[in-house]
Amino acid sequence: RFKDKVALITGSSQGIGAACALRLAKEGANIILNGHKFDERGEKLISEIEAMGRKAKFITADISDVNAVIKLIKEAALTFGSLDILVNNAGLEIKSDFLKVTEKDYDTVMDTNLKGVFFGIQEFAKYCKRKKRNGVVVNMSSVHEEIIFPHFAAYCISKGGLKMLTRNLATELAPLNIRINNVAPGAIATPINQALLADKKQLQKVVRNIPMGRMGKVEDVAGVVAFLASDDAAYVTGSTYFVDGGLTYHYEEQ
Ligand code: NAD
Repeated sequence: RFKDKVALITGSSQGIGAACALRLAKEGANIILNGHKFDERGEKLISEIEAMGRKAKFITADISDVNAVIKLIKEAALTFGSLDILVNNAGLEIKSDFLKVTEKDYDTVMDTNLKGVFFGIQEFAKYCKRKKRNGVVVNMSSVHEEIIFPHFAAYCISKGGLKMLTRNLATELAPLNIRINNVAPGAIATPINQALLADKKQLQKVVRNIPMGRMGKVEDVAGVVAFLASDDAAYVTGSTYFVDGGLTYHYEEQ
């Protein structure tokens, strides 16, 4: 579905971002990988993507830094001659009781999960307009754009902000032929959930709340990202697709 397309996936050294990179490459895209630093994980992904016959490059950039994000988009567009798909995947969470949240922690979460995404999309939209090219944006939101998560207030408002950003931009960017949607993963087995995965009791509790009875796999998320990035979703914009095994709207028997 992505022959001759170029996709930038932020925060793609590991976890969901890496799975998205591999999935889009498998379907034909050339890939711009991104992360704080280039290491053996990036090297391995580049080899895997090149083994599929696609091109791949890793561009280091801190997504919480607006100037770095703008530079990243510009460089990504020059690397393989175009930029067609932007997957805003980089994100983080910091657990803290509300009474103890510091301004620094708040800024780290908001700047990475929302501010960097906001200005990344702005730069991508400027590029699409200048080049008269269509564009697709997929934001990695979370079920917590919808449901609460005690002790993660900043994370929840960052993803809640992404929800409204996507709803707004679907309208503002439609005249430029740019589609934008959110994917909202539930509990996915990635390094972000390391503590949970190591705690059997807590893990059982989480899985009990998931109607499908299991954690999600990174491939479950990547498949939906690929759908939204593709022309199969040509008439889809401003939506959130939940990839959560039924978690968000589940009913608990009393
Ligand atoms: P992860 O921690 O495995 O991967 C996140 C990646 O983003 C890491 O490689 C990290 O280095 C990178 N990153 C973080 N801050 C960055 C920055 N400032 N600049 C550049 N790169 C940065 O986590 P994951 O589970 O793969 O999460 C990916 C996305 O999915 C995040 O936005 C997260 O909020 C979202 N999400 C994950 C889950 C889940 O259960 N795993 C659930 C809902 C939403």
